[in-house]
Amino acid sequence: MLSHLECARCGLRHDADRPQNLCRSCVSPLVARYDLTKVGRPTQDNSLWRYRDVLPVRVPDPHFSLGEGMTPLVPLPALSRQLDVNILMKDESLIPTGSFKARGAAVGVARAKELGIEGIKMPTNGNAGAAWALYAARAGLRSVIAMPEDAPLITREEVEASGAELRIVPGTIADAAQAIKDVDLFDASTLKEPYRIEGKKTMGYEIVEQLGWRVPDVIIYPTGGGVGLIGIHKALHEMLELGWIKGKLPRLVAVQSTGCAPIVKAFDEGAAESAFWDNAFTNAFGINVPKPLGDFIILQAIRETNGTAIAVDDGQIQEDRTETARTEGVFLCPEGAATISAVRALRKDGWLNQNDEVVVLNTGAGIKYPAVRL
Ligand SMILES: *Cc1c(COP(=O)(O)O)cnc(C)c1O
Ligand SMILES: [Zn+2]
Repeated sequence: MLSHLECARCGLRHDADRPQNLCRSCVSPLVARYDLTKVGRPTQDNSLWRYRDVLPVRVPDPHFSLGEGMTPLVPLPALSRQLDVNILMKDESLIPTGSFKARGAAVGVARAKELGIEGIKMPTNGNAGAAWALYAARAGLRSVIAMPEDAPLITREEVEASGAELRIVPGTIADAAQAIKDVDLFDASTLKEPYRIEGKKTMGYEIVEQLGWRVPDVIIYPTGGGVGLIGIHKALHEMLELGWIKGKLPRLVAVQSTGCAPIVKAFDEGAAESAFWDNAFTNAFGINVPKPLGDFIILQAIRETNGTAIAVDDGQIQEDRTETARTEGVFLCPEGAATISAVRALRKDGWLNQNDEVVVLNTGAGIKYPAVRL
């Protein structure tokens, strides 16, 4: 059961039963804490709501879910042979709205509604805006979404179709954030709202449950704002505390594009935080985030698990997108393809061993990106 919110930087406790954004003392992200003595085993729901005792929504509405979660964990035998390492793909393409942003949106919107919030606003690289706008429509909440002009066209259309107010902005997601700073609605930007992490952390619960309640050796995640990686790390710690898993945690790997790699740079330099990445550009739009708000949490999670951070270039990402379609019959999103490029590079330099079991996340559907050239 949800007990309170805690600042990820200074630990200050906040009331979870009213709308909250950042820490009132140090302006850092807040994370949800639960009374883990009152957590039951997963329910029979074939969605992320099976983990309802570790989700923040106090009374989930069974009519609200679109079936988000419980995506398959698919072996990639051809690439496993080619790269001489055991690769499993958590396939988030098979989820409402076509990207794993649906997890954060389903939980975030449900909790916003429960707290009496009437509308939300957010800047987005596309998929988050689409997911939040559509789930907001389902919940009867207003939404204002700002998006860079080069974000994938399909995500624009999803936002418009949902009845949200859409603002198209030149520049990056940072510029989009500026464009709506005066809009008087609840700010649901990445990590400025505590419950998106809770939705995304269910990927961690699912991976472990689908492996028969054990952890893989490595999890590789395409990192933009880092919410999924932070969420998976949080889920692993909760499961340790619950006694659902034991022993060493998987090594967590953040993958970025060489066109926008603030986390990789900070990791390599041993820095606690990232520096703003100027002129950020990559075709893997979901990971085009020049300065993630939760950079320090991402870096802690990687270091604590003996993980790493790696940048791969857009050319390699495109090649691996084609290679995966040809050899596995799976049309990855560019961000998902980046995880295959990371396996390739990390296996080559020996960071991954032959015996490692590696879970990669395909965070969205390849068909959402018709304009990205192969
Ligand atoms: C948003 C997004 C990411 C990055 O997710 P974060 O949790 O913000 O790091 C990766 N892939 C896709 C397809 C996305 O939409
Ligand atoms: Zn704080």
